[in-house]
Amino acid sequence: DRLYPFCDPLALENRLTDQERGPLHRLRGVLDEHAQPLLARHWEAGTFPHELVPRLIDADLIAPPEFDGAPARRLYEGFRTFELARTDASLATFFNAQAGLFRTACRLGGTTEQAAAWDPEITSWRTRGVFCLTEPDHGSDIAKGLATTARREGDTWVLEGAKRWIGGADTAEVLAVFARDVSDGEVKGFLVDRGAAGLQVTTIGGKTSLRMMQNADVVLDGVRVPESRRLGAVESFGDVAVMLGRLRADVAWIAAGVQAGAYEAARRYVRSREQFGRTLGGFQLVQEKLARMLGNLTSSLTMTTALADRQEDGQYRDEDSALAKMTVCRTMRETVALAREVVGGNGIVLDHDVARFHADAEAVYTYEGTHEINALVVGRAATGVGAFA
Ligand code: FAD
Repeated sequence: DRLYPFCDPLALENRLTDQERGPLHRLRGVLDEHAQPLLARHWEAGTFPHELVPRLIDADLIAPPEFDGAPARRLYEGFRTFELARTDASLATFFNAQAGLFRTACRLGGTTEQAAAWDPEITSWRTRGVFCLTEPDHGSDIAKGLATTARREGDTWVLEGAKRWIGGADTAEVLAVFARDVSDGEVKGFLVDRGAAGLQVTTIGGKTSLRMMQNADVVLDGVRVPESRRLGAVESFGDVAVMLGRLRADVAWIAAGVQAGAYEAARRYVRSREQFGRTLGGFQLVQEKLARMLGNLTSSLTMTTALADRQEDGQYRDEDSALAKMTVCRTMRETVALAREVVGGNGIVLDHDVARFHADAEAVYTYEGTHEINALVVGRAATGVGAFA
């Protein structure tokens, strides 16, 4: 059931090289053997299986040795994210907080020297970090509304404000925080150490989606950061927007992976469950739902692989990832609902995996820009008219 043809009928995975497949197969093995048995228990408890993290680190997933020092292609990174999400959306989100959000903040936001110094720390997980942009009062309107301030005092910056929803902040050692410079009004970036005086991190409780992944409220009360820890290449929100464009592409891969996981779990179920004396999978109406799920999943994967090509050949524009994020997330919602439907009552308990994918899809649908905000990014590109405010 773990073979690609079942959830990748157009064999898009064949576009990976043998070198790229190596770490992905290792990852698949780790996830099947070590992650799968833990998921339902941790989801119910609302805890993250931290015991898995060393195994993911050992798998050298961010900078696999097979690539001989060459950077991983977007297609490899995409399928890596897909594979994680196909097992569990929290796992993919946790991994993406480090390999996507934090690494991107440091690589694109740092100067060449900063990025060169920090990247090995991040790819080896020696430094674990998170991305702090959203605020309690500013989510979709963060570009204009960002209210956390940064005031320079000699070689030090003083940060004041609050952040919300920060994924992985409970265990991160470093927080990439975006704040508005009070002197020129522009958004800048800072690496804040977890132990900094004035920093407070509080886990958000009561989540009904992505329960395994912890999100936090962060308060910055006069937190001091040396100038050397300012992200030297971030001069305005425009530089953050470039990061978001790239990160949205990663979320499209997560949403494709969630569909694969939900489809596979539903397919497994309907092949064994019997009603009216025959397997559910033999009923035409059930098959139509399976076909729709597989069609959604295949069109999602087609879109994400095409997007990876565009990112690789330099033709990529931010609208591309906004279009992919909103479209793949929209089909994801239908796919997980169909999966939940064909599993009947068992679709709302954790035992058959479908309930977990169904619930987790809601968080993926919202983070990295809601459907509406990504639609407005696409709409602006289509018409030349910004309709955000
Ligand atoms: P709001 O902005 O309040 O939006 C509410 C609704 O209004 C949405 O449907 C929205 O589309 C709609 N809306 C808003 N403006 C318009 C408009 N102009 N036109 C039409 N409709 C509009 N942030 C980080 O910085 N770091 C993280 O690690 C992180 N992780 C997250 C993990 C999870 C599980 C979640 C749920 C969020 C995370 N976020 C993170 C924040 C996330 O990016 C925001 O939740 C998202 O951008 C939406 O902001 P909001 O929740 O404040 O919703």
